[in-house]
Amino acid sequence: MTSSYLSTVCPHCGTRNRLALPIVPTDQPHCNKCRKRLITDRALAVDDGRLRSFLRQDELSLLIGFWAPGCAPCKMMMPLLDQAAKKYATSLRVLKINTAEFPATIKTHRLRAVPTLILVHKGRELDRVTGAMDGARLMRWIDKTT
Ligand SMILES: [Zn+2]
Repeated sequence: MTSSYLSTVCPHCGTRNRLALPIVPTDQPHCNKCRKRLITDRALAVDDGRLRSFLRQDELSLLIGFWAPGCAPCKMMMPLLDQAAKKYATSLRVLKINTAEFPATIKTHRLRAVPTLILVHKGRELDRVTGAMDGARLMRWIDKTT
């Protein structure tokens, strides 16, 4: 670890904040602007603008779940994203975006199908998986990749 702080984007108001390291979840760090919690234990639904700001500014690793309504495997993955958000609360920010609502993301992220999960660190894609996977495989993939 090279610095004792990292930048993170408030999941509630989008303001950039500094987070002291190591992150201790029981400290419940709060946003300087809106005073809400910076660390969430659920996947956060975002629009394409918010997604861009997380990709540009958040130094936490990101797990982004691209999904669409009417997609059964996507529906299966949603609770697993919440589980991952809980398990990796101090190291990973879990985002989800509806590609039917924000179709430009399909091109931007070169998606071939949904669900697609992408792990990103400081704007750089680490790995992606297309198609459903079970919880154990998801957690193994996150452990291996981040
Ligand atoms: Zn805030």
